[in-house]
Amino acid sequence: MVHDVVIIGSGPAAHTAAIYTARAELSPVLFEGFMAGGIAAGGQLTTTTEVENFPGFPEAIGGPELTERFKAQSTRFGTVVHTETVNEVDLSVRPFTFKSDGQEGAARTLIIATGATAQRLDVPGTRDGELWQKGVSACAVCDGALPFFRDRPLYVIGGGDSAMEEATFLAKYGSKVTVVHRRDELRASRIMQKRAIDHPKVEILYSHTVTEALGSDGLEQLRLKDLKTGEEHVVEAAGLFFAIGHKPNTSFLGGQLELDETGYIVTAPDSTATSVEGVFAAGDVQDKKYRQAITAAGSGCMAAIETEHYLAALG
Ligand code: FAD
Ligand code: NDP
Repeated sequence: MVHDVVIIGSGPAAHTAAIYTARAELSPVLFEGFMAGGIAAGGQLTTTTEVENFPGFPEAIGGPELTERFKAQSTRFGTVVHTETVNEVDLSVRPFTFKSDGQEGAARTLIIATGATAQRLDVPGTRDGELWQKGVSACAVCDGALPFFRDRPLYVIGGGDSAMEEATFLAKYGSKVTVVHRRDELRASRIMQKRAIDHPKVEILYSHTVTEALGSDGLEQLRLKDLKTGEEHVVEAAGLFFAIGHKPNTSFLGGQLELDETGYIVTAPDSTATSVEGVFAAGDVQDKKYRQAITAAGSGCMAAIETEHYLAALG
């Protein structure tokens, strides 16, 4: 059987695309993945506690509950969901073909919404079940406004544009923000560097790394290591934010779509169209700028509408 629409992914982008294509009677089939990219079906929101910035939930909503609601809404309109990871696609044939953990199939259109995984340092004390999400985070925009960061010392790891942006953002909340970078030169663009360096509450600590996060119910201290001298010291810290890059989940595409230099799918301006006609990309897998649930959902809607138009033109 050839499906009209196969959606690969399970976050807000995938389920918004599913809701729209299901309501357009395109009978979408969605592969939500099984620990794909190291994340449970439902995507990145399953790894967080409270989501306070998704409209419609004035009292905030738990990340896992929000993803359950996305899925309930898309299945309500008839989306068929498989808890399988798509491991391979062939975009050189029409219809496109794909192989998942449990099946092979064909589709006239594909919507790729496989997201990205925030990189984390594997430092003692920061892991799941330790202080992860108890002061240790990989998303300043998501978590920075939480009360326990207010007027407290915060730390950001990384030396790129994300680290600079997150440090200046966090400076609104913390008493001081220290950027810990492993080299003695930043990778960030000049303008982003300047913005951080000039900020009165931001300090850059070069040639250092974090070797341990300490605390009981929440982060209290960090052990820092000077990479030039090997000396270590412990500092007070309420927040540790990783800003060491994201890895878009695109390896299963086997290089058949145009990607940018950091592995994100390239889409046409103001569109979700990729370099292959009939393949659309939505959410974090094609967005390294905003990376929010609401922008992912918005682009999922765009992908669905573009898919519908494409299929209508195919007749
Ligand atoms: P994702 O949520 O990344 O989900 C994609 C999923 O697709 C993957 O996780 C996986 O399950 C599946 N998948 C991957 N590869 C395959 C494959 N080959 N086959 C099948 N399935 C596959 N944003 C906010 O707006 N507010 C917040 O408060 C907020 N908090 C966050 C907290 C944390 C800790 C993190 C990490 C992110 C947070 N974000 C928040 C960002 C938000 O989660 C993302 O922007 C959003 O989830 C991106 O949605 P997406 O649909 O692109 O994909
Ligand atoms: P980058 O890959 O540019 O930077 C990652 C940073 O993390 C680097 O400084 C790197 O160090 C450091 N790092 C990586 N791995 C480790 C590790 N294991 N231990 C310690 N440090 C580590 O990622 P970004 O997320 O900052 O940016 C991604 C892209 O998005 C870039 O193209 C950037 O320009 C863009 N962007 C643009 C923004 C804007 O213009 N407003 C905002 C945010 C991102 P090292 O330098 O030593 O390699």
